[in-house]
Parts: sequence; C-alpha cells; structure tokens
Amino acid sequence: MTMVLNTIAAARQWLHAERNSGRTIGLVPTMGFLHEGHLSLIRRAKQRCDRTVVSLFVNPLQFGPGEDYDRYPREFSRDLTLLEGEQTDAVFHPDAGEMVPAPPAISVSAGKMGERLCGESRPGHFNGVATVVAKLFHILEPHRAFFGQKDAQQIAILRAMVRELNFPLELEVCPIVREPDGLAMSSRNVYLSAQERKHATVLYRSLEKARSLIASGTRDAGLIEREMREMVEAVPGTKLDYARVVDTNSLEAIGEVRGEVLVAVAVRFGKTRLIDNMLLAPKATGPRH
Ligand code: AMP
Repeated sequence: MTMVLNTIAAARQWLHAERNSGRTIGLVPTMGFLHEGHLSLIRRAKQRCDRTVVSLFVNPLQFGPGEDYDRYPREFSRDLTLLEGEQTDAVFHPDAGEMVPAPPAISVSAGKMGERLCGESRPGHFNGVATVVAKLFHILEPHRAFFGQKDAQQIAILRAMVRELNFPLELEVCPIVREPDGLAMSSRNVYLSAQERKHATVLYRSLEKARSLIASGTRDAGLIEREMREMVEAVPGTKLDYARVVDTNSLEAIGEVRGEVLVAVAVRFGKTRLIDNMLLAPKATGPRH
C-alpha cells in the first residue's frame, strides 16, 4: 500500500518516524500524470534508498500567465495505481493552498542560470521550480532526490541550489526515457495531435544530427546550432524556441566543442512546447596532454 500524505504535517510525521527508525529516504518530485520516465526515477530511488516518497504537485509558481497550468493533465487515481504497481512507499500530494502562500513573500532565485534557454521564453519559471523544490527538501528532508536528465537546465540549477544553500542531500540524475521513435516521454505529449506527434520526433532527430556532427569532427557550436535549426524549421507546424550548444554546468553559450557539452532544443507545436537534450562529447582521440 502506498501511503497518501495530503498535508505537510502528515508528511513530516510519517517521514520523521521512518528516519528515526534509521531508514534512508529517497524523494522523486513530479507533477504527476506519470509515465515510464517518472517510473524509472522511482525504480532507481527504490534501489538506492530504504523508503521512497514521490511528490505529486502541479506547481503553480512555475507556470507563467497564459501557460498550461489549468489544463495540465491531472489524474490522481491513475497515478496512485501506477505508484502502487511500483510499490512506492508514500506519495506526498498537497493541494496548492497547502504548498503556496497567497501571495508568497519569499522566493528562491535561480539567478542568471534561470534566464538562459527555457528561461528566455518562461521568465520566472525556474524561480518557481527552485522555490517549490526547496520547500519539498525542507518538508520531506530526503537523503537523496532523483531527477531526470530530460530537464537538464533544472538539474544544473538545483545542483547549484543544493551546493550554495547547503541542503544536506545528494541529487541523482537518471537518463531520459524515450518512446521507440526517440521522442522523450513527457506528460505534455498527450496534448499533441496525431500529426504533431509524428512531427515531434524532430527534437530527437536534431539531437542525433548534433551527435553525428560532433562525432565526425565538427567543433563549431554555431554550425551545429544552425543545422539543428534548419532541420526543425523544415517540419511544418513547428516553431523553434531554441537549439543551443552550452556549457553543461553554467548553461552559458560556448563557441567550440572541446569537452562534454549540453545540446538542448525546445520546439513549439501550436500551444504545446516540448524540450529535449543530449550530453555530447568529442571522442577521445588519444592520450591527453
Ligand atoms: P515532471 O512531472 O515533468 O515535472 O517531471 C518530474 C521528474 O521526472 C523530473 O525530474 C523530470 O526530469 C523527470 N522526467 C520527466 N520526463 C522524463 C523522461 N522522459 N525520462 C526521464 N526522466 C523524466
């Protein structure tokens, strides 16, 4: 049975008891409407920790005006069945009033890192993410927290938050889970029409293009970005938000691919905005000097 915790007080009580019994706690933060990507994080948490708690909260602070907060898919009973299937120990499922004071007086700032990539078209988004993840860390006090590489910018920001604000926990990053045709799994994929769903493979294909360019010796980040942009723009009904080659940690633009880089892409299909990324590095060609 998965324990359902709807309030901060109930979550604290349950988790204190578990910690006092000497058990380690793994946290998997999600916005629900679970898919295999989320389940891979839960499986990893269960391997690494004695108890796994999944938080399921559509965070209003990370949606901008006109974004999809109201229509974001929510199906708690379906999610709970999936959580039971994974033998998840507990789910923290607060409502917005429980988590977000109205109006909030305090916010965690993601700074410059939050303004890059997705932050350019979603101002304030990463402040909302960082604020609610900080709250989850304080409320649930996990030993480890599990996040997907799918949200690479989120990881870079949360790593900096954990380091700079001294959260006593470890972040673990799990690989992107994809559909057989390469599309990264996302709760937002349900918004796509049949045709958009076919076209949506262009995100993965553009990343594969970047991979093959780097593998065949291309080092010019601008050239890689241009090739990706052309590929996305050739697909009808798409609007490219960005295709970038950046430093994995700082998310700053780079000119030349020397070590590992983050190649990230965001594309709109009508009202639906999808993201994907790959960590790519030139193959080692011999001993380093
Ligand atoms: P979300 O519910 O979309 O906020 O995602 C919750 C967590 O699941 C985040 O850490 C995401 O990075 C992760 N996640 C979402 N999609 C995938 C995926 N396709 N593969 C791996 N992790 C994912």
